[in-house]
Amino acid sequence: MKYVSTRGSMAADGRPQPFLQILLGGLAPDGGLAMPEHYPRVSAGELESWRGLAYPDLAFAIISRFADDIPAADLRRLIGRAYTPGIFCNTGTGRAADITPLKTLEPGLHILELSNGPTLAFKDIAMQLLGNLFEYALARSSSELNILGATSGDTGSAAEYAMRGKRGIRVFMLSPEGKMSPFQTAQMFSLQDANIFNIAVRGVFDECQDMVKAVSNDLDFKSRYRIGTVNSINWARLVAQVVYYFKGYFAATAAGGEEVSFAVPSGNFGNVCAGHVARMMGLPIRRLIVATNENDVLDEFFRTGVYRPRRAAETYSTSSPSMDISKASNFERFVFDLVGRDPAAVSALWREVDAGGAFSLAGSPHWAKVSEFGFASGSSSHAERIATIRRMHGEFGVLVDTHTADGIKVGMEQREAGVPLICLETALPAKFAASIEEAVGFAPPRPPGFEGIEDLPRRFSVMDADAAQIKRYIASHATAAASA
Ligand SMILES: *Cc1c(COP(=O)(O)O)cnc(C)c1O
Repeated sequence: MKYVSTRGSMAADGRPQPFLQILLGGLAPDGGLAMPEHYPRVSAGELESWRGLAYPDLAFAIISRFADDIPAADLRRLIGRAYTPGIFCNTGTGRAADITPLKTLEPGLHILELSNGPTLAFKDIAMQLLGNLFEYALARSSSELNILGATSGDTGSAAEYAMRGKRGIRVFMLSPEGKMSPFQTAQMFSLQDANIFNIAVRGVFDECQDMVKAVSNDLDFKSRYRIGTVNSINWARLVAQVVYYFKGYFAATAAGGEEVSFAVPSGNFGNVCAGHVARMMGLPIRRLIVATNENDVLDEFFRTGVYRPRRAAETYSTSSPSMDISKASNFERFVFDLVGRDPAAVSALWREVDAGGAFSLAGSPHWAKVSEFGFASGSSSHAERIATIRRMHGEFGVLVDTHTADGIKVGMEQREAGVPLICLETALPAKFAASIEEAVGFAPPRPPGFEGIEDLPRRFSVMDADAAQIKRYIASHATAAASA
């Protein structure tokens, strides 16, 4: 399998690139995102033959189609080490070996548990594999990587727990001092691994993000210290997420041919884009229901055809904070397919977006394809998510987190008789205790091992929102590349 850019080319010479070549990279040189040249098709017979596979075997069957430059035995080992019941042990159903167990609320209504990993959010599923893939690729090329990131909560901790103790990798994670939830802060800052560096910045999240950009724009520093990222545009993260759509489908259906719909709490469009890939591979998905919170850029697109990213000042802080995103970085991948994989068309649309503008596909021949691809959408407010949490608890005795509640709220609105609906769980309620208390009047339980994490010793540094300071910090804790 080779990869192209949504805007034309993955490499300076214009040639499509293999998986290992795009694994560590961010944007393509032309500013686009990596996409497979075509989607591997899974026949109905092959699909049924996968039905009984254990999670790691299913993951291998799918991921090996996309990463065919990694020898099969190596890929099996990397996958097998990521998806173990020991790592994904925080399940509410007690079925840790399933990695992503399906919880049935009533006939035809399900929650797919994706938050059983070390940081209690679905990002662990992709990050745990990414950590192993990075370590493998770096060992093969005898090189090292210094990952620099900014987080407001979930991504940073998922990345740190995936990269802790990995050879050749250091993580420098910036977070706004005092702005993460007490649980998130404790989770990150209590890590004692020598390759993990937590940096609390005296400022807000945007300033952390600006520091990352400033370092990435210093090309000399970037190559000298081999600076990399683990952000949501990484193609390997997306591929790892394709697997649980298959797993959820098999768990919710009895035999071949049946269609299911998925409701997906969305921010950067990574999760639901993986669903789109699964559907393009041949998984019988009827609808992919995109759920947003008050930051409804994506819902607006799927209702009207207008994509209008918002400025930071127009982005609301909500009680489902991991979806407080007004520029969906993976959305460009979907639009690439929507416009018939025409890189010139994508480039023209994103010239508008990158200049702070908007575009509309309403009335264009591409617009009809949105429903052909199975997409539907809706949004949820704070009051609606609180009411959904309360209702799920009252009716079915389950506690869901605020993001999952947004997905359930929108999914239920669009539910069709006779079509199983699978709502993706993206985090455990323990991470967002205040909203759960508001909804049901008691604090959410914590999985074993998370009691008292606020009291553990902490390891972190504090600095000003100043790019020069983080550069000095990286330089004193990392070794420069041998070639520098
Ligand atoms: C990241 C995240 C989302 C949004 O997922 P995308 O892939 O960015 O659309 C939703 N819920 C939670 C809890 C998250 O951490």
